[in-house]
Amino acid sequence: MDNNTVYDLVGIGIGPFNLSLAALLEDTPEVNSLFFDQKPHFDWHPGMLIVGTRLQVPFMADLVTLADPTNRYSFLNYLAQKNRLYPFYFLQRLDIPRREYNDYCKWVESELNNCCFGKKVVELEYLEHDELYTVTVEDIETEDRIRYQCKNLVLGTGTNPALPEAFKGFPSENVFHTSEFLDRQDRCREAKSVTVVGSGQSAAEAFRELLKDRMKYDYKLTWITRSRSFFSMEESKLTVEQFSPDYVNYFYRFPQEKKDEIFATQDLLYKGISSHTITDIYNLLYENSVSNEEINVDLQVLTEVNGIKEKGNTYEISCRQWEQDLNFTHESDVVIVGTGYRPNVPAFIKDLSDYISWDDKGRYEVEHDYRVRVSIPNQIYVQSGISHSHGVGSTNLGLAVHRNKIIINHLLGREKYPIYDKYVFQNFDAEKF
Ligand SMILES: Cc1cc2nc3c(=O)[nH]c(=O)nc-3n(C[C@H](O)[C@H](O)[C@H](O)COP(=O)(O)OP(=O)(O)OC[C@H]3O[C@@H](n4cnc5c(N)ncnc54)[C@H](O)[C@@H]3O)c2cc1C
Repeated sequence: MDNNTVYDLVGIGIGPFNLSLAALLEDTPEVNSLFFDQKPHFDWHPGMLIVGTRLQVPFMADLVTLADPTNRYSFLNYLAQKNRLYPFYFLQRLDIPRREYNDYCKWVESELNNCCFGKKVVELEYLEHDELYTVTVEDIETEDRIRYQCKNLVLGTGTNPALPEAFKGFPSENVFHTSEFLDRQDRCREAKSVTVVGSGQSAAEAFRELLKDRMKYDYKLTWITRSRSFFSMEESKLTVEQFSPDYVNYFYRFPQEKKDEIFATQDLLYKGISSHTITDIYNLLYENSVSNEEINVDLQVLTEVNGIKEKGNTYEISCRQWEQDLNFTHESDVVIVGTGYRPNVPAFIKDLSDYISWDDKGRYEVEHDYRVRVSIPNQIYVQSGISHSHGVGSTNLGLAVHRNKIIINHLLGREKYPIYDKYVFQNFDAEKF
């Protein structure tokens, strides 16, 4: 079955990045848009919406404010509509609860007419003669397929949990990625031992929650990381200016090889743990140790996990302290894997492969204004999988809004949103010194 409208833009995936674009496009009637997501409704990393976790950027990085503070989909207007402005005013915080950010996004989505959920994009085709894309969308419940036509696409398919091979093939209630943490929390509560592997923010948040729960459920808790320490993320004000349009512009101009080299040195900007999470964990460890009782919690650094195998009702984890070159095993009923996420570049993008320029590592080449480099007149704008081209800030919520200003300006062929040369205090580019 075909839908007869020709859309100016079809969006694939409705995470915060495309939701921001969908919201900003509402007052851009010149662009007729439609967005699809395979989930039944908007939900932002639901397995990690742990009570007490916070957004790692100020609430101004909502879906619209950094493009247009007067837009009705601002976080402050959400509060006003829910009659929560006074509690927020007295809260006096910039870093809102992660659960509240999710609720805010759900509110925005419920107000928009251009977002469809429960619809999975399964195929793309380019009609050379008509200069249009065909997007095949499958209804998740009925499996019915409808084809939509559009002039341009925007990919916002986000990331997928990265589960290394060594952890695959085990019952998912016992060995799972941090992205499933809340769904499996009850399983942890009935286990005799739980092990968290990895020391990024998600692993730390899971560990903190398990540490709180431990006082009641009394399992043995272990935290293992290959890193030299449970290091904290660089969060100082001048450092986070690297999550600015200025830094994106600076980074973008380098040749790809140099970009890969720079990116490889930027771990501290996104891979560590927020210092407030580390403080919470330390306070909980201290609390656990009151009365000098055996606290039954182990933290092991400098140690990689090489494999895991079933041993009766539990799992034997093979570990290696790499600095000492010392191998040992550790047993645990539950293993939680905090090995991060990787870009979700959907297989169907290969349907358009012949039109796309790929780099020698198989990544699409992306123009400065977020268009995949293509040999046809119709654009594929891209929000996901662009760290290689646009740098470390590509997954940052605040920068996504700036990116959407650029995408909308390009779609319109005029500067609806002004773009400035300089946004932050420091210079990256010595030519501008
Ligand atoms: C736990 C966690 C917390 C984070 N916290 C912060 C933070 O505080 N601050 C910050 O700046 N960044 C944060 N990030 C990083 C980043 O902001 C988020 O990953 C954000 O969700 C990225 O948005 P997105 O729109 O690219 O993708 P996602 O939120 O991953 O959404 C992608 C969507 O695409 C859909 N999709 C995929 N394929 C298809 C298809 N074929 N058809 C239809 N739909 C499809 C998926 O269902 C999904 O809903 C966090 C990341 C994680 C994992």
